[in-house]
Amino acid sequence: MYNNWEELENACNNCTKCKLCENRHKVVIGTGSKNAEIMFIGEGPGADEDIQGIPFVGKAGKLMDKAFEGIGIQRDEVYIANIVKCRPPNNRNPEYEEADLCKEYLESQISLIKPKIIVLLGSVALKNILGKEYGITGSRGKWFEKDEIQILPTFHPAALLRDESKKIDFWKDLKLVKDKLQLL
Ligand code: URA
Repeated sequence: MYNNWEELENACNNCTKCKLCENRHKVVIGTGSKNAEIMFIGEGPGADEDIQGIPFVGKAGKLMDKAFEGIGIQRDEVYIANIVKCRPPNNRNPEYEEADLCKEYLESQISLIKPKIIVLLGSVALKNILGKEYGITGSRGKWFEKDEIQILPTFHPAALLRDESKKIDFWKDLKLVKDKLQLL
């Protein structure tokens, strides 16, 4: 575990623990406020993120920004990261082994930021954080608690691009997050 950002970022940028390092352009560590009350966790960088080194800057990210705007969340007041920090080839799901090797970085980010709420974006984030037995359809919009952090799974923004009908639930879940924060 890393207890300061400099060492953490340095370790991520030089990481060769798994094969995802072989084809990456940039390590995508995270973006936003290091004092955020809300943290979003996605799956892994896509092509745009890999080039820019910033999470959720592609199509899915633009959609997420729109939802943030609608609900009154500023991108720079939250923190956004992913289960794995390097792009899986052809945007495949990260393997559990890759996620496990990368976990120390994400866990360090969580312990440095100490968010009150974590939003899990999609099934990969859900299964890696809460457990393989959880499914996104049954878990989204429900609150969980782990290490005194409130955790809400919701759809991955890319799923909204494939199925517009999921947008309403995604929106509702972000509202739940805003409302919950008032109570914490
Ligand atoms: N999808 C993710 O899960 N993360 C990103 O950073 C971009 C797309």
